[in-house]
Amino acid sequence: MNVRRYGYGKNKLTKYIKCVIMNTRVSIIHCSDYSNAKDAIKESLNLIGGLEKIISPGNRVLLKPNVLAIRPPEDAVTTHPAVVAAMCELVSEAGGIPIIGDGSGIVKPGSTTTSQAFKASGIEDVASSCGVGLINFETYGYVEVDVPGATQFSRIHISRAILEVDVIISLPKLKTHELTLYTGAVKNFFGTIPQKNRKQAHFLEDRNRFGEAVVDIYSIVKPHLAIMDGVVGMEGNGPANGTPIFTGVIMASYDCVALDVVASELIGIDPLKVPTNKAALSRGFGTEHPEIVGIPLEEVKIRFKRPEGGITAMMPSFLMRILRKQLTVKPFINISSCAFCKACVSNCSAHAIEEVGRSLKINEEKCIQCYCCRELCPKDAVEIKKSLLLKLITRSKS
Ligand code: SF4
Ligand code: SF4
Repeated sequence: MNVRRYGYGKNKLTKYIKCVIMNTRVSIIHCSDYSNAKDAIKESLNLIGGLEKIISPGNRVLLKPNVLAIRPPEDAVTTHPAVVAAMCELVSEAGGIPIIGDGSGIVKPGSTTTSQAFKASGIEDVASSCGVGLINFETYGYVEVDVPGATQFSRIHISRAILEVDVIISLPKLKTHELTLYTGAVKNFFGTIPQKNRKQAHFLEDRNRFGEAVVDIYSIVKPHLAIMDGVVGMEGNGPANGTPIFTGVIMASYDCVALDVVASELIGIDPLKVPTNKAALSRGFGTEHPEIVGIPLEEVKIRFKRPEGGITAMMPSFLMRILRKQLTVKPFINISSCAFCKACVSNCSAHAIEEVGRSLKINEEKCIQCYCCRELCPKDAVEIKKSLLLKLITRSKS
């Protein structure tokens, strides 16, 4: 692994400060079909100020979609290729040089997971048809950096690509998340760090501390813009095991936190219950009350089904403090669905998944309930069981 200390180019920092000062406005635009994605994105950008505000001719512009796993576009796990293609075209039209990059979540020993995920998600085809570079963060190399003002990680490894470009654009997918309730523009940058650091973040054993770790990463990336793929989102057990749901929106903001605040509210989740929102706002990023332009929020609001693993995050904190041990949502492996690929074993930061003969079992004592195994299992073989008390409390909601 390439480990160096890096500073920030003056241009990149100035550009970031300029766009933060510019505004925290969030635009919402109807988009009924991915064939209209480019027009909708263009309109959403015009409402906040356009791409020209952040891109100068010749700038290298990193587009960071969510390519979480080896899944086709119709599963709604990954950012739709039409959104990525539209952004490649719009960045080129603004005079920039688009580059697509990500590091996916699944690690199978000996395999190149991100490459397979680029292919399955249709993003490899976008890169080749648009003639743009495609960077696999897993193999491109990481750089060790200091994190000024960190709350969890004072030093972290981050993809070299983040430090080499002039402009960074987050292209998240509108989804629920079993650990953080909602995943969007800020959480999208979790994919810029290596697996080792991702495991350390999950090992913090607390949603709020995990949110703070994600914001530590965000504070280093300093993105300039976010475009949300909310045409088809994912409700229920996101970010990988939920159900696709038509939402019909594209959103844009120069401020990822402002966009996340509005997007979580759009899907019926209290923005201040989302650990990444809470952590970002408390560090002074974004705003709790962004200006919304375009379609009124009330017109497009839709209540996404909650993730089962996220139920405890919705409980009042005093109740969680008192009944922490009784309010549990524990994962277990359904052996009849398990393909024994061991992706879950590789990703378990707590080393809680143990081999028992030709099957796997989760050691409840070691498990920190981060749900990474569930998120990344290609066979949906990691199921969850709620404690009796939690079942009783949530019966009316489930
Ligand atoms: S539970 Fe899922 S990830 Fe784990 S070995 Fe089985 S199929 Fe693979
Ligand atoms: S078994 Fe699954 S939920 Fe438990 S710590 Fe490991 S990855 Fe997280």
